[in-house]
Amino acid sequence: HVYLDNAATTPMHPAVVQAMTDQMMNDFGNASSTHFFGRTAHAALDKARGQLASTLHTKPDHIVFTGGATESNNTAIMQTARANAGRGKHIITTAIEHLSVLKPMRTLEAEGFTVTYLPVDENGEISLADFKAALDDETILVSIMYGNNEVGSVMPIAEIGALLADHQALFHVDATQAFGLIDLDPAKLGIDLLSASAHKLNGPKGVGLLYRSDNVHIKPLLQGGEQESKRRAGTENIPGIVGFGTAVALLNQDAKAQKQADFLQFSHQITAALTAADVEFHVNGNLEHQRLQHVLNLWLPGASTYALQTNLDLAGFAISGGSACTAGSLEPSHVLTAMYGEDSPRISESIRISFGTTTTAEDVDAFAQALIKIVRRLLARKQK
Ligand code: PMP
Repeated sequence: HVYLDNAATTPMHPAVVQAMTDQMMNDFGNASSTHFFGRTAHAALDKARGQLASTLHTKPDHIVFTGGATESNNTAIMQTARANAGRGKHIITTAIEHLSVLKPMRTLEAEGFTVTYLPVDENGEISLADFKAALDDETILVSIMYGNNEVGSVMPIAEIGALLADHQALFHVDATQAFGLIDLDPAKLGIDLLSASAHKLNGPKGVGLLYRSDNVHIKPLLQGGEQESKRRAGTENIPGIVGFGTAVALLNQDAKAQKQADFLQFSHQITAALTAADVEFHVNGNLEHQRLQHVLNLWLPGASTYALQTNLDLAGFAISGGSACTAGSLEPSHVLTAMYGEDSPRISESIRISFGTTTTAEDVDAFAQALIKIVRRLLARKQK
């Protein structure tokens, strides 16, 4: 089986598994306990916090460990909006955010906040003009993803950060898909809050982080104990956090840049094979633009997402019809809908292929050949 669904999750790096196993075997203590076992667990927590802080060019005190990007997004959005409601009730986000951003937005709308959902063009990109037009004195929070999980488009984060420098609004960025691929310096980018998740970069599931800048006070979403400097209650998932720290320590800037280049090459390999075979396809998004290169979203006119996905699965290739979180439902992709309109055939005839550190050129080649065969078969069947 070939795994080409790395935007959904990634396989754990063996060094991550080893570090987590060592942690679980030798050091089960509660990091809040004051005895030897607790102090040892706390040292592991501190080490991982340092690793995450260094990746984000920040201080350990700016990293809050969470149960994943979903929790980070929920906390960043709902808690800062509620805490700042006295200064305004307007929020700006985009139409193509992950549901862990969009659903908290709907909760806030029900609480009386007004949310502007910035539209995207056919490249899956927002316009700065739309952003500027939406920003007003009532805006207290801007939440915009770094890069999209279905099509790989990136948002003008640095530009928005600069525009918000003298504005009261806090700037939250869901960097879940970008974290392992792009070197991120939130302070330089003007970001106040940033979410990431370990399982997207060969770390474990169920652990993430919320970065906060100096000026941001996080009121915990989960209430209880005083863990994470009172910013997130609950006994820390030390094995997961150690795995997260190990996973980021394995990445460095060069490795990230190289991955982006390799992944773009994989996309070109697939599109070249389809072109050579004379199979009609269109990229959803724009490979020529700056983007997260691990995601390739293709429209294959005449072939349904469902048929493509199930036939590829039978042939041994794991891809996705969109984001994994909604894959079980038959809901059309809100991302493709925002890009092409609800009547576009792209919405029901597209697939997402996503590359990772374990993807090889041979796998990609085998995938392209399987895809060509399957599309031809599906189109031939249709013509009968
Ligand atoms: N945001 C984005 C952009 C994502 O791709 C995901 C994972 N699909 C999440 C948030 C949620 O991450 P997690 O499942 O780790 O909570």
